[in-house]
Amino acid sequence: MGIDSLSSKSPDKVLFTDRFFVEMLLQNKEIPIHIDLPGDRGYDLAFSPLQALPAKMRDAGLRPGKCLVITDTNVAAHYRNPLVAVLTSDGWDPFVLALPPGEETKSTAHLNAIYNAALSWNIDRKTPVIALGGGVIGDLAGFAASTLLRGLPFVQVPTSLIAQVDSAIGGKTGINHAEGKNLIGAFHQPQLVLIDTKLLYTLPRREWTSGLAEVVKHALINDEAFFAWIEAEMRQIVARDPRVVPDLVYRAAAIKAAVVSEDEFEQGKRALLNFGHTFGHAIEKSFGYGVFTHGEAVNMGMKAAVFMSRRFNRKLDQARALNILSQIAIPTVPVSIGISEIRMAMATDKKKVLDRNHFVLLRRIGEAYVTHDVTVSDIDAAIAFALGRP
Ligand code: NAD
Ligand code: ZN
Repeated sequence: MGIDSLSSKSPDKVLFTDRFFVEMLLQNKEIPIHIDLPGDRGYDLAFSPLQALPAKMRDAGLRPGKCLVITDTNVAAHYRNPLVAVLTSDGWDPFVLALPPGEETKSTAHLNAIYNAALSWNIDRKTPVIALGGGVIGDLAGFAASTLLRGLPFVQVPTSLIAQVDSAIGGKTGINHAEGKNLIGAFHQPQLVLIDTKLLYTLPRREWTSGLAEVVKHALINDEAFFAWIEAEMRQIVARDPRVVPDLVYRAAAIKAAVVSEDEFEQGKRALLNFGHTFGHAIEKSFGYGVFTHGEAVNMGMKAAVFMSRRFNRKLDQARALNILSQIAIPTVPVSIGISEIRMAMATDKKKVLDRNHFVLLRRIGEAYVTHDVTVSDIDAAIAFALGRP
């Protein structure tokens, strides 16, 4: 699966079927990756500067008029004015709503704030919602777009690493509930995702390293060649060296694009993207949201998953996988949480099937699968390993 099944559309629609073409496209990242979906719902990931947004929106069939821009105040401080300038220069009339930053913003209260702004702005069914921000803004604005007037056109302009390689791609939108994360939501594919990697240089360092965990995840589950490239360039990657950032984002986004093109509604392969997340979500929840970022918790979750994978797959090069994960920083936290508490936190994971947690394991680097056949002692041993408790 994966990159082999990726299709891409240049101005005259190139379809490519193997790695060779991905390498070729890396030489010319101006060519968008096309996500192929049934029923004319396909869309482009345009690797272009923010200034190209109006042209790309036209390519996606959107015509200037009113548009609703949702962002957070951190992102607005850097990019609100440039975005408004670029939109108005092509005849758009943007209304910008800048919400507070942070996970708590994925709530009914802020969803309602978007509804209020949109409806008092007199939108119609052609008014696009543009998400300018990280995964929080993308998920929230996308859910608003999916429900306003039973569905408005949606454009993603992701500004965090997680958003550029993961959350802005694939149409999962939603908000959190007291019972857990992302429990209320919808699939609503964007019309366009514009990825400008230059926006990533204002991202706080901790958010950069958090995003790296998801990038490594894409490589571990899908693409050994990409993993080897990460190993070779790890120092530059951690340092956010502009010589490696565009390739890093392009390759990681291409993997997500391939997976969601193949399995839009997570009935099969898309579930592999949850590698490290069954453990990670439980760690995030047990320590309390905000102690670790999502990416940090997923990094620890992947260590647990690698450890568990090795128990069942003797061919997995565990040291190689762990070596890269350990180069991505995680803050030390003074609070100690019991292993059984973390295991119990898995009980509310929404990815459960027939009341059993599923675990994504690695057969080897670049190949993952789903299993339910693990014991409580397998789980506890993996958690203990990830937390560094022998
Ligand atoms: P985020 O949106 O909270 O962004 C992280 C922080 O970085 C915020 O403080 C934000 O203001 C700031 N920021 C973002 N871009 C910036 C920039 N260019 N310059 C300066 N500051 C910037 O979180 P995130 O890590 O982007 O995403 C995490 C969220 O994504 C979670 O809610 C998670 O559930 C969701 N997610 C969704 C999917 C999906 O498929 N929909 C996939 C993965 C994650
Ligand atoms: Zn994640």
